[in-house]
Amino acid sequence: MISPSDLVVVTGAGGFIGGHLVRYLRERGCHRIRAVDIKPLALWYQRFEDVENRVADLRLREACYAVTEGARYVFNLAADMGGMGFIATHKADCMLSVLINTHMLLAASELGVERFFFSSSACVYPGYRQREAEVRPLREEDAYPADAEDGYGWEKLFSERMCRHFAEERGLVTRVARYHNVYGPYGTFDGGREKAPAAICRKVAQAVLSGRREIEIWGDGEQTRSFMYIDDCLFGTLRIMESSIDYPINLGSSELVTINRLVDLVEEIAGVRLHRRYDLSKPQGVRGRNSDNSRIRAELGWEPSTPLRVGLEVTYRWIYDELAAGRCQSIYTAA
Ligand code: NAD
Repeated sequence: MISPSDLVVVTGAGGFIGGHLVRYLRERGCHRIRAVDIKPLALWYQRFEDVENRVADLRLREACYAVTEGARYVFNLAADMGGMGFIATHKADCMLSVLINTHMLLAASELGVERFFFSSSACVYPGYRQREAEVRPLREEDAYPADAEDGYGWEKLFSERMCRHFAEERGLVTRVARYHNVYGPYGTFDGGREKAPAAICRKVAQAVLSGRREIEIWGDGEQTRSFMYIDDCLFGTLRIMESSIDYPINLGSSELVTINRLVDLVEEIAGVRLHRRYDLSKPQGVRGRNSDNSRIRAELGWEPSTPLRVGLEVTYRWIYDELAAGRCQSIYTAA
């Protein structure tokens, strides 16, 4: 559907998924891409010279109109977000992403954008469905009655609804994916915004590099999650954008693991065994979360399937190399 000459806007392009999405679209022949992020260009994880790279604060209405001008497709990935350590302590910041989504939807509907993609999250699902480690995978309809993750999850749920109303009443075609924990190289692994797979890879790599054979784990390690490799996320994002799926749909892996199992896998890859220290005072999020993929299988005849071991291998190597080269990341907070 997206043809090479269409102008495609990717917001959050300086971040993890947005950076990969720009690369992926280029590889698929798009040669008119506008990549936008609030971070200075030097801090973008991936940057391409043949792409129109813009630095803009998309909480501002005028900035959203400026970056959307002339666009046919918009992938709106920009959000002030991070792993549990960040979203548990920055709820107001997370909710302020509603400014990005509001202004991007207004700009897209008024400037004649053909399709608008919004990256929602599994954090929209209610806490009362995620109290057990042996959790029943979350189905799309489980989002209601709502009891989303405080701050971040409520903002995503609200913005999902805005997408629906802009479609119903303003004729903007919107597509919404509920991402479940995405991981891979070229993302945040340090500084406070990192998510569990990157954090565990970093801690194991630091143990290897320093010779200190121990690791700190948040919680008792028996909480469960599923983790989707970035390649599956990109493929699914484009398929959903180009599909007729007009409701928020899960995009996640259904390979459920405990955090202890995640650590086992990274240790295997690194060839070490570490002494585990469990810190029960740290934020742990819900007890268990998995993605029910019945809908995406039925709609697309496909679901994310990269084995966790395979994706972690690539991710660990990248993080190890970054650390070994002395490159670390610091938290970037917009004023
Ligand atoms: P990320 O933090 O790496 O990327 C988000 C980017 O948005 C950052 O580069 C940030 O600088 C940018 N941004 C923040 N505020 C902005 C503003 N005011 N104006 C312009 N840019 C701004 O995160 P990510 O993992 O790449 O996530 C991308 C999207 O996917 C987000 O909407 C996120 O909520 C969603 N998501 C991600 C995951 C995951 O596991 N990574 C899971 C569920 C949903």
